[in-house]
Amino acid sequence: MHKTALIFGISGQDGAYLAQLLIKKGYTVHGTSRDAEINNFSSLIALGIKDEIFLHSVSLTDFRSTLQIIEKVAPHEIYNLAGQSSVGLSFEQPVETLESIATATINILESMRFLGNDFHFYNASSSECFGDTGNSPANEDTPFNPKSPYGVAKASAYWQVANYRESYGLFACSGILFNHESYLRPQRFVTQKICKAAASIALGSNELLNLGDTTIKRDWGWAPEFVQAMWKMLQQKDPEDFVISTGILSGLDEFINCAFSALDLNWKEHVISNPKFFRPSEIKSGYGSPKKANNLLDWYAKKSMPEVAKLMALKQFEVLKKVSK
Ligand code: NAP
Repeated sequence: MHKTALIFGISGQDGAYLAQLLIKKGYTVHGTSRDAEINNFSSLIALGIKDEIFLHSVSLTDFRSTLQIIEKVAPHEIYNLAGQSSVGLSFEQPVETLESIATATINILESMRFLGNDFHFYNASSSECFGDTGNSPANEDTPFNPKSPYGVAKASAYWQVANYRESYGLFACSGILFNHESYLRPQRFVTQKICKAAASIALGSNELLNLGDTTIKRDWGWAPEFVQAMWKMLQQKDPEDFVISTGILSGLDEFINCAFSALDLNWKEHVISNPKFFRPSEIKSGYGSPKKANNLLDWYAKKSMPEVAKLMALKQFEVLKKVSK
């Protein structure tokens, strides 16, 4: 059967990789941005797929706008990858963060309920819902204890999805994804900041990279692999939530070391941890168990942190070198 997918937030890192995957699988892909007229869709252009996608302007905090696009496209699968996605920024924009995540999700669920079609819906949840996982990896039964406005908003959206699934029998599920990175990660995220600084120093800059707390630990994977898990979740017979992660915990200082070492640099000469950039509340340690996804989705993370950091640093070097010529 020929399938149509609607991706909210197609201009982002995951939206672009998911669109690429679905096009390869033969889907007709529609995607939304808050303003498709002014967005340059650089990630879709970088992947060479912009012209193969139907693009629309949609505000997910506006019920009419949400309902209209779902009715018009009549997709088999709906992926919500839109919303304010920075934990750091969520402390500065708590209301925008909550509305762009929680109000948006309820608008999609209500639209699905109202239209009544047999949509399959994927909600982009986050490991930030768990807060600190300590010394054991979080799984689908681990209680939530979010530590940021972003985590609180994601937890709210997660429960909305679970509630609509149970109350109205919708095919709706959440992927609780741990950090995943790529060349398309926006510059404001710490991993991309590190790789860009390493590349620019390797090309002769004498800048000093100021970061927040470099002792934090995370579970970092590769975004193009993580979007495959999203698709697999919507091909299941029944909707279920899944933790998607590599299962490996690494320090931010180890990420920095891998990125700088890939360019033959000693990070300790170029990076400082500056308390000015510490967050009001920080997760010390966060990692997840991908066992359920391994067993039921046959999904495995192939790339882990050292390779991810190296690939991103080398790419930044290649890009900056071209620009500086
Ligand atoms: P991303 O690159 O930041 O893309 C998110 C998209 O959402 C943006 O391209 C933007 O599209 C839209 N957006 C940004 N701010 C918004 C706002 N205030 N209101 C409404 N829309 C806004 O994020 P991503 O890395 O692809 O992540 C996709 C989803 O997965 C997000 O919901 C994110 O929170 C979640 N997630 C990501 C990770 C990760 O490690 N990457 C981990 C767990 C969960 P337009 O500007 O075109 O409207």
